[in-house]
Amino acid sequence: MRAITVLPGVANSARLDDVGDPPPSDGAVLVRSWALGVCGTDREIVSGAYGSAPPGQQRLVLGHESLGEVEAAPKDGSLAPGDLVVGIVRRPDPVPCPSCAAGEWDMCRNGRYTERGIKDRHGYGAERFRIEPEFAVKIDPDLGLLGVLLEPTSIVAKAWDHTEAIGRRSRAWTPKTLLVTGAGPIGLLAAMMGVQRGLEAHFLDHNENGPKRALVEGLGARFHVGTICDLDGFEPDILMECTGVPTVISDVLGATAPAGIVCLLGVTEPGHKREFDIGGLNRTLVLDNDSIFGAVNANRLHYEMAVDALAHADKGWLSRLITRRVPVDRWSEALERRPGDIKVVIEFAH
Ligand code: BGC
Repeated sequence: MRAITVLPGVANSARLDDVGDPPPSDGAVLVRSWALGVCGTDREIVSGAYGSAPPGQQRLVLGHESLGEVEAAPKDGSLAPGDLVVGIVRRPDPVPCPSCAAGEWDMCRNGRYTERGIKDRHGYGAERFRIEPEFAVKIDPDLGLLGVLLEPTSIVAKAWDHTEAIGRRSRAWTPKTLLVTGAGPIGLLAAMMGVQRGLEAHFLDHNENGPKRALVEGLGARFHVGTICDLDGFEPDILMECTGVPTVISDVLGATAPAGIVCLLGVTEPGHKREFDIGGLNRTLVLDNDSIFGAVNANRLHYEMAVDALAHADKGWLSRLITRRVPVDRWSEALERRPGDIKVVIEFAH
């Protein structure tokens, strides 16, 4: 079967390879791929800056935003041939640490977790893959191709889960406003879940190119172009930073209303030094009871929250997030950044 593989650490080494059948050791469920979403992490791996192959192997099968149809599953389980499923990305560390032991592998404490298509484990970018039943999430068949949005939605579901956990430190916490920086897939899905919670949502982006404004307004949210200084003193109760851009990050810290929560979701390359008034930031955070936290990855609970969020979303709006569909033979085009791209997916024959 064909799979997109890469030599981690070596720029532009990705290629469509002929590889063997997925090994039974990957799990008892055999899945035929429908689609694979592409994100910044995949581009970083292909550029040689991130990722690692399974121990003892050189190449890594790329891909962690999966969608496929079950071809074979254990008879006594909850999955059956024909079911549409998405694979969970992370696997617990082998120790396991207290978080992984409790099923919260997204909070792994010793860094020895593995991630399909990213860290020490082959990904889902193959015509077929195998998976353990407990790491396959069944989705509503009506979602069809939109099911490929489940993994990025699980990331924002975790961000909401933790934001709400922090909010509960005050029994009177009743947030009304949300500001999202960056109208990419993560930002748009984060705002979708914010709107589902009844919040007034605002977006800040650096440009108007492509379908961003229409997508934002389609959610009933407001779209602003510029920097946080252009918001005339608007202070949101919750701020989700989804750009990972150092200048945007330093602008958003401390920019919430009192008792505000800033959730950082963008992964930044190290090495960006900036002048920063740490005294002023600390004063604001302490005197206002503000919180800043980072969130990555998702556990099973977050995938289930994401299933629910997609079930309640407008399917027409969700389908506009997928701006390009590239057949697997032309997979490399999916990794190019093109104007107007929101979510690009690679499609397998199905
Ligand atoms: C994935 C996460 C993963 C993170 C870091 C993201 O693109 O969605 O599941 O934990 O990269 O590897």
